[in-house]
Amino acid sequence: MANFETPEIKDPAHIPALKPGAMGHSLPYVAQEKFQAPLGFPGELADDWKDVAIEKLGALLKTNRGLRVFMDSCVKCGACTDKCHYFLGTSDPRNMPVARQDLLRGVYRRYFTLPGKYFPKLVGATDLTEEVLDQWYSYFHQCSECRRCSVYCPYGIDTAEITMATREIMNAVGKGQKYSNEIIGKVFKIGNNLGLPQPALEDTLLGLEEDVKDDTGVDVRFPLDEKGAEVLVVTPSADFFAEPHVDGLIGYAKVFHAAGVSWTLSSHASEAANFGLFIGSPENMKAIAMRIREAALELGVKRIIFGECGHAWRVAYSFLNTLAGPFDFLDPRYPVPQHICEFTNDLIERGVLTLNKSANDHRRLTFHDSCNVARASRMGDTPGGQFTIPRAIIKAVCNHFYDMAPDTIGEATYCCGGGGGLLTDDLIELRVKGALPRMSALKEVVEDHGVTHMAAICAICKSQFAKVLPYYGFQMDQIVSVHQLVSDAIVLDGQH
Ligand code: SF4
Ligand code: SF4
Repeated sequence: MANFETPEIKDPAHIPALKPGAMGHSLPYVAQEKFQAPLGFPGELADDWKDVAIEKLGALLKTNRGLRVFMDSCVKCGACTDKCHYFLGTSDPRNMPVARQDLLRGVYRRYFTLPGKYFPKLVGATDLTEEVLDQWYSYFHQCSECRRCSVYCPYGIDTAEITMATREIMNAVGKGQKYSNEIIGKVFKIGNNLGLPQPALEDTLLGLEEDVKDDTGVDVRFPLDEKGAEVLVVTPSADFFAEPHVDGLIGYAKVFHAAGVSWTLSSHASEAANFGLFIGSPENMKAIAMRIREAALELGVKRIIFGECGHAWRVAYSFLNTLAGPFDFLDPRYPVPQHICEFTNDLIERGVLTLNKSANDHRRLTFHDSCNVARASRMGDTPGGQFTIPRAIIKAVCNHFYDMAPDTIGEATYCCGGGGGLLTDDLIELRVKGALPRMSALKEVVEDHGVTHMAAICAICKSQFAKVLPYYGFQMDQIVSVHQLVSDAIVLDGQH
């Protein structure tokens, strides 16, 4: 365990006493040139970095109209101040969303507004200095771009957009973040975040076929690069080996098997995650998304289905058609893209799957709405489908389900604390503290309803909770994949 104190569990919305500067030391590793160059960014600060930064901000204000509105429209009402999990967990007032925004807003005012140019002190305008750049680097890597604050802002100001813009500016001047940029480079070079090459992936999938055969006696396939399959499944690479992710992948395979629908994974697009979103780079988002289009064309599939990954679904649902469309070569009877939960829930509703709910009777479940799914996407044909569909699946495969407090789920859900490119060990203090509101809400249902497990449909949430649950006195295996529950309940033809 690291050298900091885990916050005490309280009411999830408990407002802490302020501790100015409490997290000023929190800094992720800066990307070296070898991680910057493949993404088209300079390797270090050049002498003219300030001019480059201001020019980049100017360009973003032109291309992203929302950003200019967000810069101009805050009235300092304070409604967002206690809504960020990083503020609630760290007590640092700079982690209040409005204060985070002001780190960029001050510079915007100085260089892009008349009062800021002539009377900077009167309007809170700030010169761009290395000190300000350092503050940006620290506090814009203490925002997971989860959008919770924007739900409560009367003007809809979206701090996530401001964080993305500031990270984009930092990349443009050569101050990128190692974790995110190294991962994007791996996707370009190998196809996935883990750097898992095709032969290793093939081996892993064959191993899973053997495991499922041993468990069930049924030949459930995990196809890779299979031309002519109906469905291309694009899933986070964590699904290929890590617990509890891989149990979810086994669930998808069993569902496809039971439905008699042919499917394949792709070694070229062996990653659903798109960290281009986290660093605010449309060019890198597009380059990653294009791999999915290329794989779909190469394999001749008719549909694309995404596995359990929150921000991947945000990119897919909101941007895939813009980034890599048109997908007019796919079967028009299905949405592009589709979520694995939509696919499974449809089969459940049509009675296609045989399910034995009691197989999950050793678990009492709750569900963590992943922030990206909750506030940046939808699922199915009905508003709120991103909340009802995963719960409908869980209730179809488990007898014991209890939601956490209403102001901690659905649209008001708290981020796990590791989203937005922050799931790295150099930020473990931030991750542990940022998980406080979710851990507090979990504790309530554990005490009130005997909940034993929390399900999620996001690879980052699952990895984050596996790491931070023990800090709060829980077990790391209390986080499970939704399709792990499906996997355990499904009864396949011929299963022993
Ligand atoms: S987007 Fe999320 S992490 Fe960022 S300031 Fe708002 S609530 Fe906090
Ligand atoms: S809620 Fe909106 S308007 Fe109010 S302080 Fe926060 S960002 Fe500004």
